[in-house]
Amino acid sequence: MIQPQGKHIAVIGAGIVGISVAAALLQEGHRVTVIDPAPPGAPHAASYGNGAFISPASILPMSQPGLWRKVPRMLADRRGALTIRWRDLPALTPWLVRFLRAGATGDKVSRTARALSGLLADAPQRHIDLAARAGLSGLIVQNGLLYAFRERAAYEAEAFGWELRRDNGVVMVEVEGEALRRAAPALDPAYRFGVLIKDGAHCTDPGGYVAGLADWLTGQGAVLRRDRVIGFDLPAGQLRGLRCDDGDMACDLAVIAAGLASVPLAASLGDPVPLAAERGYHVELREAPFTLDIPIMPQDGKMANVTTRGGLRAAGQVELAAPDAPPNWARAEILFEHLTRSYPALSGVTDSQVTRWQGNRPSTPDGKPVIGRSTRSKDVVYAFGHGHIGLASAPMTAALVADLVAGRPPACDLTSFSPTRFP
Ligand SMILES: Cc1cc2nc3c(=O)[nH]c(=O)nc-3n(C[C@H](O)[C@H](O)[C@H](O)COP(=O)(O)OP(=O)(O)OC[C@H]3O[C@@H](n4cnc5c(N)ncnc54)[C@H](O)[C@@H]3O)c2cc1C
Repeated sequence: MIQPQGKHIAVIGAGIVGISVAAALLQEGHRVTVIDPAPPGAPHAASYGNGAFISPASILPMSQPGLWRKVPRMLADRRGALTIRWRDLPALTPWLVRFLRAGATGDKVSRTARALSGLLADAPQRHIDLAARAGLSGLIVQNGLLYAFRERAAYEAEAFGWELRRDNGVVMVEVEGEALRRAAPALDPAYRFGVLIKDGAHCTDPGGYVAGLADWLTGQGAVLRRDRVIGFDLPAGQLRGLRCDDGDMACDLAVIAAGLASVPLAASLGDPVPLAAERGYHVELREAPFTLDIPIMPQDGKMANVTTRGGLRAAGQVELAAPDAPPNWARAEILFEHLTRSYPALSGVTDSQVTRWQGNRPSTPDGKPVIGRSTRSKDVVYAFGHGHIGLASAPMTAALVADLVAGRPPACDLTSFSPTRFP
């Protein structure tokens, strides 16, 4: 049990980001209350159903030069990895325009990759350390991560991105032939080329990890409050407390880490951050006939394949749609088909062994999270908008928030993550 001496800090949201922030602040000696209307690690949150990759290579934003040319095809292709729900297009257009602009030039993408590298370069080690402190070491495994291609040419077609990763220090090993078969014995031999991210790690139960960290934190003296934050008591820019559904709560400082739901809270503090729901899906196959020691991303399916405690998971798809639109389970079906096509041993598997999940990535147009102080008050810090990389980047985000709270120079430059960067 840590004896708190510092400030009373409220962390809004108990996803992987909020829970990691709470762990960092508790370690610094603060009194921490985590507030969330739902139990930590439950399926409502993005942190439950993600692809479990903790990859130092995830530094490329979705938006890249020339993407705008593909938008009409994306709108038409109902089976592609990226799709837009027609009826939500008008509401999404301002975000889409920003999204396309953010990746319009190689220069912009390089700058984003450099910034994300600051969050991800040592992500596996940070998770290993966090899990060890919480007694959850079994949930983080560092066996590497494999990106698999049907042909070397498909890899070469993405040369710009792989070069950027190399330039940012990602350790990669090209594998072909026997070496590829040894790394991925269950993968269809039609995949003839791979890139192994040697330092990559994965989580064997993302939801269980969040729940386990939350249990550990309460044992260490943090308080978990089951409530929804609806506003701030902020006279003259000084935080006195939070307005919640079940009543007010006094605190000295607040961290907003509520994923997609951070938008109205930040807007009420003068920071209109554009976040969209990049909706994703997973299918999880119980009793799969094999396990993957090294998680695999078959690049044609754009899905993360990983053995979790629940089974063989395939997570992916980007569906731009209103956050509360009903799930389109046809997207999960596409993942299931990719999965059975990629691993010959799954040919007889039926989807009665499969569970499905849909969740919302909280995504900024430029693929970078928002980490920094609010415009209206130095007592409110933001840690949201982690899009595709929230699991991997949560511990470094937490370290940066702790730096801000302590008034130390941050461990990496925060300019790129500023809440006011959106014109
Ligand atoms: C299909 C898919 C695959 C992915 N794969 C990966 C991957 O392989 N690796 C990776 O790093 N990332 C991956 N991600 C992204 C990652 O899951 C997210 O970036 C991350 O989970 C975001 O965490 P979060 O804590 O910000 O949000 P969430 O997990 O959504 O948590 C937000 C919490 O805030 C709470 N909340 C909301 N409103 C309020 C309020 N008003 N008051 C209090 N609490 C509130 C919610 O109840 C929720 O518990 C993937 C995402 C998806 C959908």
